Formats: sequence, C-alpha cells, structure tokens
Amino acid sequence: MTSSFSNLMLAEPLARAVAEMGYETMTPIQEQAIPVVLSGQDVMGAAQTGTGKTAAFSLPLLQRMLKHENASTSPARHPVRALVLLPTRELADQVAQQIKLYAKYTNLRSTVVFGGIDMKPQTLELKKGVEVLVATPGRLLDHIEAKNAVLNQVEYVVLDEADRMLDIGFLPDLQRILSYLPKQRTTLLFSATFSPEIKRLAGSYLQNPVTIEVARPNETASTVEQHFYSVIDDDKRRALRQIVRQRGITQAFVFVNSKLGCARLARSLERDGLRTSALHGDKSQDERLKALAAFKAGEVDLLVCTDVAARGLDIKDVPAVFNFDIPFNAEDYVHRIGRTGRAGASGLAVSFASGGNDARLVADIEKLIKKKIELEPVEFEEDRPRGRINDGRRHWREEGEAGDARDVLDQPRERRDADARRGGGGRPHRAPAAPRDPFFDKPYEPGQPDATPAWEAAAKAAAPGRGISSNIKPKRKVAALFKSAEPS
Ligand code: AMP
Repeated sequence: MTSSFSNLMLAEPLARAVAEMGYETMTPIQEQAIPVVLSGQDVMGAAQTGTGKTAAFSLPLLQRMLKHENASTSPARHPVRALVLLPTRELADQVAQQIKLYAKYTNLRSTVVFGGIDMKPQTLELKKGVEVLVATPGRLLDHIEAKNAVLNQVEYVVLDEADRMLDIGFLPDLQRILSYLPKQRTTLLFSATFSPEIKRLAGSYLQNPVTIEVARPNETASTVEQHFYSVIDDDKRRALRQIVRQRGITQAFVFVNSKLGCARLARSLERDGLRTSALHGDKSQDERLKALAAFKAGEVDLLVCTDVAARGLDIKDVPAVFNFDIPFNAEDYVHRIGRTGRAGASGLAVSFASGGNDARLVADIEKLIKKKIELEPVEFEEDRPRGRINDGRRHWREEGEAGDARDVLDQPRERRDADARRGGGGRPHRAPAAPRDPFFDKPYEPGQPDATPAWEAAAKAAAPGRGISSNIKPKRKVAALFKSAEPS
C-alpha cells in the first residue's frame, strides 16, 4: 500500500514544499505516522534514518503549528513550540536543514543549536524567536541555563534516535530538559530498537503512544551486495585501494572502530592519493561539517568515519561501504551498510576480517542478519612487486598502485557516475592528477633504518615462510568479483 502526498490534505505551503522536494508517494513510516501525529497522539516509532522519518514527524507538526504562524517581527510572537532532540551535531544539522525546506513557504521559523561551536550566533537566533528548535541535549541545557531558550510553550517534542541518545549517556540531560516542558504536549519518540531502556523512557514520558514499526531493525537491504574478505591488518589498505580501482567505485564510507584509527587511516589514504576526509568525535564541529559538506558535494571520495559520527547521516547514493574494521556490535553492521543500496539502488558492502576477535564478531553478524557469511580470500592483482618507486613521499610504494586508484577517483564526478551506471565496466578514464598535498613535494627523507616496505611486510605476513611468487594466480571467485575493470 503506497499512497500519495496529495491524499494527505496538507496545507498549500507544505504541499508546495513537498512537491518541490520531488516527493510523490509517502514512505511506509510517513503513511503510518503522519495521520497519527496530525491527530495529536503520542508516537513510539521504530524506524531508521533513511526511511523518511524526518518528514514523517515534521510535516504533521508544521501543519499543526500553522495556526500560530505570523509575520510579526516581535520575538514574543515566535515562542518555541516544537523541540526536536537528537544525539549528534551532524544529525541535528541535517534534520534542521530538512525542516527549513519543509517550512520554507510558511512564516514558521526554525533553528538548530549544538555544541562545539560558539554560542553567540545561536543565542541571537533564539532571541529573535523560533517556533521549531532542533538541538542536541547538552547545548540546549547551556542555552536554557543562559535563559536564551524558554520552553514553557512547547507543544511538541521529538526524541529522535532515542536509543543512541541513551547509549551516549544523555538520559540525565533528557530528564532535565523534559522537566522544563509543559505536561500537556505531544511526544514522539523514534528509535532503531525498542530496548527495555527505551520502553522505560517511553513509559515515563509518553501518554498512550501509538506504536509504529516499519522495517525490522535488523534487516539488511536486499539491494546490497555483501562481501567479507579475510585479510591481515597490514593488507587492508591495499585491498581497499584495489577494490576501489577494480570496481570503479566513485564514493564510499570507510568505517573504523576507533577515533585514532580513523584519523590515521584517513591520513594514509590521503597519502595514497585518494581524496579522503575523516569524521570522528575529536574533530572540531567546523571540521566535521566541512568534511560532510565536501563528501556530499562529491569533492571527497572516501569518508573515513566512526559509528557515532556517522550514525543516521542522510547521505544517499553512496555506491559502497567498507568495514575496514568489523564493528564490535553486530547492529552497527546493519547501520553501516544501510548507507548504501538505499531506495532500491544497488550497493556494495565490503568487510575486512583479520583474525583475532573478528571471527566471533562475524559470527554475531551472521546470526543477526540471518545470512550465511563466506569469508573470501583477497587475491591481489600481483603478489609480486612490479618494482619500487619513490614517489616523493616518505615511503616506497608499489609501482602503479596508488596511481591506478587515483585514475578512477580523479575523473570528473559526472563521468565517474556515468561509468558506474553503465556497470562500472571499461577502463577508467585518465584525467590530470589532482593537486598534490604540499607534503608530497618535500624532499625525500629516508624512513626508519629498519622500516620494511609496506608491500614486503604485507607479502611476508600473507605467506609466511614462502617467497613472493609471481606465479600465484588469483582465485576465480575473486577474479569474477573484480572482472568489471581491467587496469591499464
Ligand atoms: P530521513 O529518513 O528522514 O533521513 O530521510 C531520508 C531521505 O529520504 C531524505 O533525503 C529525504 O529527503 C528523503 N525522503 C523523505 N521522504 C521521501 C519521500 N516520500 N519520497 C522521496 N524521498 C523522501
């Protein structure tokens, strides 16, 4: 059952904004939640980001608030009437941007406040008066304490990604914020799972909520092709570059398990010539937003990120997701690969398992997604170095390696996309090299005296006690996987 937005009887300014966004039919969460929210009931919704959840709560809230709409410049005429709480700055920013688009033809005002940046501009916005306030809990409390935000006229509260807010430890902050709100209000809670903690939270703050569940939280989209490779840590970067090159991948998320690993990997991939940004909690807010904007604009090809930083980000059409580290939580696997294969598009999810604890983590994923996972070997195109070249960097690298990966990623985005649509086949087009990091232009400095070239360490580790043989042929399974592009 799919129904059209035109059946909803949305007010004209909202209907116009929705039409402009190109939405025609409602997503399942919208179909179920919009009428309930319009009727003023509380909602407990199990829906992940990517399901159209933001419109599912914001459109009916905006519709209900239209009765307060006015063009007055007086701040007193624009009290906060709807509060949307989210766990991370990026999510808050993303949701606020969407709400602005939905409300663009109304006189309802909205703004967003989150930590990590100066409070002053946020204070100015709040003092002007806003009807919809999107916020992360910590910064909102700062504004409440500074008397910049007054919440005694709030009629609607949305607790979005509530499970993640509890994971991060926001429960005390949430309790405090909720204590400032009028008891008479509509409360909407969205969460990927209904854990006992979430149910307790709902029990305390929601009144007779209507439960809406759209997709089972642990489902992986059937449009995502999933591969698990057995690869030692030292070879993971090389494997990633090879897959990017051979599959003609234009953009990908690369997930790692730690902030430190995230920063390190992003730097190494950047040195390999791939346009890379890192997204993790230790980055300044400005850096995080810039990294995201650059990725969305196609100026960055690989976004290396941790789970918390990336959870729920609405970045569509990412052709591939790499699990450079197998996530500690099987559920995070589902969230990670949910970045690709959205809305029926096909996607690729590649995971690298390197022994140790990984076997157990892979078994957990297998159980959760109820699919048998085959660990495949990575056969590198050549297990023999084609000669070492010093490329002006600190390290020697294999001839042709990073350069080939760059060939794909240096192409203009439209052309890469066109190639990818054609099936990624054919040889990557060559394009002038991207401007190089000045670091690469520094004179060559010899590395540590005992430093083993990366290719040598990798080959030794992959085949202990065995020389590097040029006769090792790729196994068919992987050859078939990689058939789409021949390196020149
Ligand atoms: P969300 O789950 O709210 O983060 O939404 C995911 C993406 O789906 C956003 O980019 C929305 O703009 C988009 N979207 C939401 N509702 C619809 C719809 N009914 N039709 C098409 N796209 C939609």
